[in-house]
Amino acid sequence: MNDSGPDIAASVLTGSAHAAQLKRGFPRLRFERPLEEEFREMLVAESLPQIRRNLWIAAVFVVAISWLTHRVLDAGVNRQLDAIRLVAFGPLLILGLSLAHSPWYSRFYPAVCLVGAPIFGAGVAVIAVIAATHGVSLIATVVLVTIYIYFMMGMRFYPAMVSAWLVFSSYLVAAFVLHMRSSEILIDAGVLIFANVMGAMVCYSLEHANRTNFLESRLLTETASRDGLTGIHNRRVFDEQLNRMWTQGIREQVPLALMLIDIDHFKAYNDYYGHQAGDECLRRVAHCLARSARRPLDVITRYGGEEFGIVLFDARREHVEEVAHRLQSAIEALGIRHLASPGTRKRLTVSVGAACVLPVSGRSHFGFIQLADEALYAAKEQGRDRVVIMDKEYEQLSTGAFRRGAAVRHG
Ligand code: GH3
Ligand code: MG
Ligand code: MG
Repeated sequence: MNDSGPDIAASVLTGSAHAAQLKRGFPRLRFERPLEEEFREMLVAESLPQIRRNLWIAAVFVVAISWLTHRVLDAGVNRQLDAIRLVAFGPLLILGLSLAHSPWYSRFYPAVCLVGAPIFGAGVAVIAVIAATHGVSLIATVVLVTIYIYFMMGMRFYPAMVSAWLVFSSYLVAAFVLHMRSSEILIDAGVLIFANVMGAMVCYSLEHANRTNFLESRLLTETASRDGLTGIHNRRVFDEQLNRMWTQGIREQVPLALMLIDIDHFKAYNDYYGHQAGDECLRRVAHCLARSARRPLDVITRYGGEEFGIVLFDARREHVEEVAHRLQSAIEALGIRHLASPGTRKRLTVSVGAACVLPVSGRSHFGFIQLADEALYAAKEQGRDRVVIMDKEYEQLSTGAFRRGAAVRHG
């Protein structure tokens, strides 16, 4: 991820799509793209264990109710009901269960639900109407299937609501076509409307809470990886990225570069302009560096205090030199006055120390950091406002023993 734009971090949350969405709200239960896709994918993936369990519950429900109706209704009526079960439930349950145990689950389950839920529900509704015309009330099964659609299929609010109302409509159509008693239709319709309204209200609240939870947890992860003052990535991200790139560099035998960028005479800046001005200056420098890091994987991090770090993958010395000078010029172009600087130019400047190495197995990345640190020390020793790159020195370096002499040797 690359930070860009003029105001990454008036606060850590600025620029975060999750924070912006939380602030805007989502009464229609829809996020802006690409958050919406991210949420839907998460929803489908995370509900898989429940979906598998709930599909089995549906299968048991179908078998149990058919067993009961076989006990109370005539054989002729049961043959009719079994035919409906065979056509409406059998293929859907088999399809749902096989999908829930296949790699195509995430891709096809939502679409299958969209078509399957109303068909399954309509089947239950028609069976209930036929049973009612033979004196047995199965309205409770239509209520159950309505609740099942709202809460047990892992559907979002709108598709669930449309499916549930379609089930209600099929019940009414079947009831009129099969000439159910109008008093019975009236009571059943009342019960089903009530079940739908309750289901819809609770389903809406649940999805709203689910979406809020999704945004908050993503925001928490995002916040934990950001520096509180500047909003750019923090030391944690630096360590993780360095670790990952080091391993990848060994595997792919690709050169890495580590650049440490330190503001010159920053203590004097703070002493002269005050700490608040110092903080503002750090923000401006951080944003400027973040904007100037062009490749998508070039992540500028606040390494500590007034020091910034960037790890470059597959970077040879010439590229590192080019990047280092570009960053240095970008800071210079900010034109921040530094009247307390002992230098003659009275402008805020930075020193850059960079290490370029080909990672080898058996050596840790600590030596890599140490080499960049030694290069930065050399840049400071040689008068600041400059770039020092070390590469060959890596062979003589023994990790853990910082060599101030390296600066002298380099100069
Ligand atoms: P050099 O050119 O050798 O790097 O000198 P320097 O003064 O920049 O380095 P030194 O390590 O002596 O001082 C770093 C200063 O950075 C001291 C500290 O107060 C300041 N600093 C570190 N973090 C922050 C911060 O978050 N806000 C502010 N305002 N100052 C900070
Ligand atoms: Mg400094
Ligand atoms: Mg420093």
